[in-house]
Amino acid sequence: MSEGHPLGVYLHIPFCLRKCSYCDFLSLPTPLFPPYLSALGREIERYQPLLSERELVSLYIGGGTPTLVPPQELNDLLRKTGVPSSAEITLEANPGTLTQEMGLRLTQTGFNRISLGIQSLRNWELETLGRIHNAPEAKEAFRIARRSGFTNINCDLIFGIPNQGKGDFLLSLMEMLDLAPEHLSLYALSLERGTPLARAVASGQAQLPTEDEVAEMYEAACQMLRSAGFEHYEISNFARPGYRCRHNEIYWHSGEYLGMGLGAVSFLDGTRWKNTRGLDDYCFRLERGEFPTTSRIGKRGMAALREEIILHLRTSDGFREQDLLTRYPRAYARMRQCLEELKAEGWIEEENGRWVLPERHFFISNQVFVRLL
Ligand code: SF4
Repeated sequence: MSEGHPLGVYLHIPFCLRKCSYCDFLSLPTPLFPPYLSALGREIERYQPLLSERELVSLYIGGGTPTLVPPQELNDLLRKTGVPSSAEITLEANPGTLTQEMGLRLTQTGFNRISLGIQSLRNWELETLGRIHNAPEAKEAFRIARRSGFTNINCDLIFGIPNQGKGDFLLSLMEMLDLAPEHLSLYALSLERGTPLARAVASGQAQLPTEDEVAEMYEAACQMLRSAGFEHYEISNFARPGYRCRHNEIYWHSGEYLGMGLGAVSFLDGTRWKNTRGLDDYCFRLERGEFPTTSRIGKRGMAALREEIILHLRTSDGFREQDLLTRYPRAYARMRQCLEELKAEGWIEEENGRWVLPERHFFISNQVFVRLL
């Protein structure tokens, strides 16, 4: 690990007021468990030598619902990491948990970006998703963030919700644009096994839009956001010029990141590792002075190259052939034929040594990615 090399930091807060009907993330529908914050603080301290020798370019506190943590405790976590104020410092927030007082405390603390899990601006869709907020509360959360001084606000929206039509989704998006966020993340609903929503769909209580309908929603949204001046810089992400998410760009461009907290993932020196997903295990191990790591996977050669190509192709920047050739000379030579075939079939494009997945294929990117595996 080279000194001064950029590093992104992620902290996970795995608690939510209740579980949303589609949620498969690592979040526990329990009140904030104070010993967890002490354990997280200990984990940050354990990584102090690494944190102090690297250039911390981003800090992202995600969840779960990080806004369940009192601002003073968020402040303590932020200070412990030693992240400079010039870094991108994001907090994920759930509408319904963000108050004006909290918003002001967050900007004073040094958070300079907020990501609001709005998901929809139609009340019945929010009910289907089992969210704790309604549409007026979502809009109010946005206004609170703005009044608190946030000049970089992301909003998440979900499309492909049961019984949702293209018009419903575009209406949410239009109302979202009226609020003028700097960044939008649009996710197609993914129905995860075992969730209440998946059971409702399986039993016929809820009906998903067809794949063609979902694709139409995505295409219409891309067009609307393009006309509104957003840059479509990753399959699910759109930003006003200058507002790309620096933290997520680290993931897509194979940068290094340190994830701390329950189930968090890190990637350093070509090795990926994961923390335990057991809350008690996590707290006990840190109390005993151990790292809470469970698995380490070091990918090299072809496996590492494939992963990098797929991650880069998710973005409008794609990848520069020369960069990968330098780092993976033998594996890249073997991969080139596959890339050339995809190019000849019109799936990907190459110009002056830069390979990209054109936007028209973003929605069906998985069909391209399986060919690269
Ligand atoms: S707020 Fe997010 S993490 Fe929490 S239950 Fe809902 S979808 Fe899951």
